[in-house]
Amino acid sequence: MSRYSALRLLWEGIRGQTGWSPAWRFPELRSRYDVVIIGGGGHGLATAYYLAKVHGVRNIAVLERGWLGGGNTGRNTTVIRSNYYYPESARLYDFSLRLYEGLARELNYNVMFSQRGMYIVAHSQHQLESVRRWVGAMQLNGIDTGMVTTAEIKRRIPILDTSAAARFPVCGGFVQKRAGTARHDAVAWGYARAADRLGVDIIQNCEVRGFIKNANGLVTGVDTSRGPVAADKVAMAVAGHSSVLARMAGLELPVTSHALQAFVTEPLKPVLDTVMLSLATGIYLSQSDKGGLVIGGELDRYPSYAQRGNMPTIRNVLGAVAEQMPSLGRVRLARQWAGIVDIVPDSSPILGETPVPGLYVNCGWGTGGFKAIPAGGYLLAHHLATGRPHDLAAPFSLARFSTGALIDEAAASGIAH
Ligand SMILES: Cc1cc2nc3c(=O)[nH]c(=O)nc-3n(C[C@H](O)[C@H](O)[C@H](O)COP(=O)(O)OP(=O)(O)OC[C@H]3O[C@@H](n4cnc5c(N)ncnc54)[C@H](O)[C@@H]3O)c2cc1C
Repeated sequence: MSRYSALRLLWEGIRGQTGWSPAWRFPELRSRYDVVIIGGGGHGLATAYYLAKVHGVRNIAVLERGWLGGGNTGRNTTVIRSNYYYPESARLYDFSLRLYEGLARELNYNVMFSQRGMYIVAHSQHQLESVRRWVGAMQLNGIDTGMVTTAEIKRRIPILDTSAAARFPVCGGFVQKRAGTARHDAVAWGYARAADRLGVDIIQNCEVRGFIKNANGLVTGVDTSRGPVAADKVAMAVAGHSSVLARMAGLELPVTSHALQAFVTEPLKPVLDTVMLSLATGIYLSQSDKGGLVIGGELDRYPSYAQRGNMPTIRNVLGAVAEQMPSLGRVRLARQWAGIVDIVPDSSPILGETPVPGLYVNCGWGTGGFKAIPAGGYLLAHHLATGRPHDLAAPFSLARFSTGALIDEAAASGIAH
């Protein structure tokens, strides 16, 4: 499979696009692998890639019940940032952001990472006080953030109503300039192509329906819709389906599944060249390269596995957008959908081994795991290959729910991550 490059694009343009080959193979499922990874989203594919690339493991399968990136990886609003409160989170997410900064080159795939900055806007003196505490903590953790005035926010986000008469008056906020967006499915496809080149078997339309254990309770494989597969180690990266799958292995995870919705408007001329999040309403938006505004907001309140989302949330999110950006009031919505996100009590991920021997997990990213795909994959690969958690991943073990060493980012910052 040849490299992608500008020269190659030119050459294929000249000869009528006849020289391209499929970005990855469609191999037959084999009966045995060293490592089986369940879930062909960003985290599963990145885990396979780093296992092969960094640790030289070649006999790997990624089993995906649908199509690559068809879960949350292809459904999210693509915000990437590392503006987290606790040192453990700041280290983890900034590691991920640094991997994103070199990802297109690493994978030889244009993931369209655009560091257009992210503004978090406060609407009361109380919120501004928490923002100052948050910024102070982040600066101590070495994250590039700084407070901004209302005037600076208005300059960067002219469509935001910052007038004194606004229903949500703006009192200032903070910015992370290295934050931004990337093309979500390109991240999945880029990792898939690069992992495939290293010999990873990516099997789509292959649902895992159970776990195979030996007499000692060690997981020795999985039962799939295409038959049994033996494996030395099995890792799950199935986001909103983590508790369902873990239960099949006899493990209760502290994960509940909720729909999180995304909205895209009809294409507009450029109106927003950064990412904005409002602390009053929880809405956030950016503008895609095609011109649509990509909008996100609160979770649907009750647990669900329906990838649609409900009307009250649609009304709340879009009502808040129209209220805070009145000039968008007549813009039409082009698309809306939901993904099923994996919510844990402290809004932080779970990474590493489980009490079920031979079974590893990557989940709990909830509303914020797209930005963490490179780190989640890298760190789980490290654990699978070395048998020990990476330093960055150690605080995010499942054990914290028994020891009480929770890392409650939502409580610290006031937004659910
Ligand atoms: C609307 C929305 C907006 C979001 N916005 C952001 C954002 O702006 N920034 C951010 O950082 N994060 C965001 N997120 C969260 C982010 O999308 C997820 O945390 C991340 O994509 C999770 O990746 P993953 O690979 O773990 O899961 P997924 O991409 O969901 O992949 C899991 C895969 O497992 C497969 N699977 C499930 N069960 C089985 C089985 N039994 N057998 C085989 N395969 C199985 C699924 O089909 C799926 O493809 C958002 C999420 C949503 C839904």
